[in-house]
Amino acid sequence: MKDPEGASDEGGGKAFSGDAELPLPLERLSEGEIERKRCIVRITTYVMRDLTSTFLRSGFEWMLPVVLSKSTDPLWPDPGASIEKRIEVEIYDETVRATLSMIIHKMVACSLTQPRLFLLSPNIRIERRDRATSGVHIYEFTQLDFEVRDATSEDIRILVEGALHGLIDGLRRDMREELTSLSRYDGLRPLRVPFEVYDKEELEDKYGDEWESQLAAESRDPVWVTNIPREFYDYEDLEKGKWDNYDLFLPGFGEVLSGARREWDYTAMVRKMERDGVPPENYRLLLKLAREGRLKPSAGAGIGLERLISWIVGAQHIAEVQPFPKIPGTIYDL
Ligand code: ATP
Ligand code: ASP
Ligand code: MG
Repeated sequence: MKDPEGASDEGGGKAFSGDAELPLPLERLSEGEIERKRCIVRITTYVMRDLTSTFLRSGFEWMLPVVLSKSTDPLWPDPGASIEKRIEVEIYDETVRATLSMIIHKMVACSLTQPRLFLLSPNIRIERRDRATSGVHIYEFTQLDFEVRDATSEDIRILVEGALHGLIDGLRRDMREELTSLSRYDGLRPLRVPFEVYDKEELEDKYGDEWESQLAAESRDPVWVTNIPREFYDYEDLEKGKWDNYDLFLPGFGEVLSGARREWDYTAMVRKMERDGVPPENYRLLLKLAREGRLKPSAGAGIGLERLISWIVGAQHIAEVQPFPKIPGTIYDL
């Protein structure tokens, strides 16, 4: 564990060098590290209360998550895909999968019951062991996942900008003592909205393959990146080959959110599954609803909460913000 004083005042966990010790479980922390952990939990409490209140005030309804289902996120194709194992188990003579993300559930619930919904969704992704030192990957994490019927991508970006702007102002006002003791008060500047929006192709032209790290290193404010080729559930203009999706990058850190306007047309969905080698039998209900015209247009996103908190507190490694660290390749008792 790094000395708390070593925490950067400018950036976040992406700068993790890979040489430092990985975060330790609670029972092996020193007194100073326990105090730092307490501070991080106070910030976590604030973040959770503030963001959920913002969503509730904006007319969202709060749904409970699930962990085992027949359908979950394929996480494919994604150039950054990095899981070494998919958890599938047989129960009651059926195969179910541990939640990789609740994207399918969001699309179905948003279409059938709740037109504005959010949930705190546990994601289990057995990341490759070499991701232990990326500083931003853990094998269990939580997304604040939300979805809005008939929304545009711009609607979602405006919503997120407002939520994060309010959150950072609130933290600076109400959590000054904690941020100062984490050496983050000065580095966590008020956010300027709206955030800039870039097309991924334009960033690749400018920075090449390393565009993600360059963008994180160079930007002073959060920035949106659109048009990222991804899973079948993001909307793609198949004629123009343009994707109506967006990632949010935090300065000095990297990706904290992914989202999109959704695919809801049956034919397009099947075509993309075939192209990508995604087994349609794993998405039977979603395809049935799309075929029957019961799947509705929507847009949404998921914020990786541990990443957001890690950036806020200036953690050296994301697992530092977990009470029970889930570091790729390392299994502690709890
Ligand atoms: P990356 O490319 O950084 O590995 P991703 O694009 O594969 O992430 P998504 O599938 O877009 O991740 O997941 C949605 C959000 O969940 C991400 O924007 C991020 O905030 C968070 N997230 C994804 N994987 C992890 C992980 N292993 N540990 C912590 N947070 C994660
Ligand atoms: N939460 C993401 C979304 O809403 C899906 C993911 O986890 O990648 O698009
Ligand atoms: Mg992503």
